[in-house]
Amino acid sequence: MSVSSSIKNIVSSLPEGVKLVAVSKFRPLEQLREAFAAGQRDFAESRPREFAAKVAAMEEDARLRGEPSGIRWHFIGHLQTNKLKYVLPYVSMVHSIDTLHLLDAVQRFAAASSLTVDVLLELHIGAEQTKQGFTPQEALSLDLYSLAATHPNVRLRGLMGMASHTEDQVRIEEDFACIEQVFNQLRLRFPDLECFDQLSAGMSDDWRIALRHGTTMVRIGSAIFL
Ligand SMILES: *Cc1c(COP(=O)(O)O)cnc(C)c1O
Repeated sequence: MSVSSSIKNIVSSLPEGVKLVAVSKFRPLEQLREAFAAGQRDFAESRPREFAAKVAAMEEDARLRGEPSGIRWHFIGHLQTNKLKYVLPYVSMVHSIDTLHLLDAVQRFAAASSLTVDVLLELHIGAEQTKQGFTPQEALSLDLYSLAATHPNVRLRGLMGMASHTEDQVRIEEDFACIEQVFNQLRLRFPDLECFDQLSAGMSDDWRIALRHGTTMVRIGSAIFL
C-alpha cells in the first residue's frame, strides 16, 4: 500500500478527537513529502539532529511554495539536555520527558529563548529494561500543580506510554489500561490543570488496542512508511 493510502486508511479508522502522528524517523524526505501531499501535518522524529534536518528541509519546501508548512513537529525519542537546541525551537510537542532533570532543563532553555513548550511525561510500563520514563508510582506521586508553577515555560499536556513489545494481546491490553488509569487519576487529582488532556499511546502494531484505552494520539511509523 502507498504512503498516502495507508494514511487515509488509518485516519478514516480514528474516532473524532484522536490524531495520527506519522513517525518519520529514519525515513527519507521523499516519504515525508508523500505523506504531506496526502494531507498529513503531524510528524514525529526521535533523534535530535535528524529532527532538525527534517524540519529545515520540509520548512524550506514550504518557503519555496510561499506558504507556511502547517506542520506540527513532535519529538518522541530520548532527549539529552545538551541536544535541546536542535529540538525545542521547532517542536510542537515533546512526548518523551522521562525525568524531572530533563523537565528542568527544558524549562531553563525555554525561558532563555522565550518559548513555551508543550510536553508529555513518558510512562515506563512493562518489563523492558531499556525503556525510559516514570513508573506509574512515580507519576502518581508527582504534584502537577507545583510542577506547573515551577515550570512556567512548559505546558504539561499529558502522558505518553508504550505497551510491552510482545505478541500477547492480553498483556498489551493490560499495559494500555494501566497507562489510561494513571492518566485518569492524574486528571482527577489535578482538575485545574486543564491543558493536561493528551494521551499519546498506540503504535503500528497496537494502535487499535490503544483506541479502547483513551488514546488521543497514535504514533505510527512502519504501518505508513513501508
Ligand atoms: C519508532 C517509534 C514509534 C513508531 O513505531 P512503529 O512500530 O514503526 O509504528 C512510536 N513511538 C515511539 C516512541 C517510537 O520510537
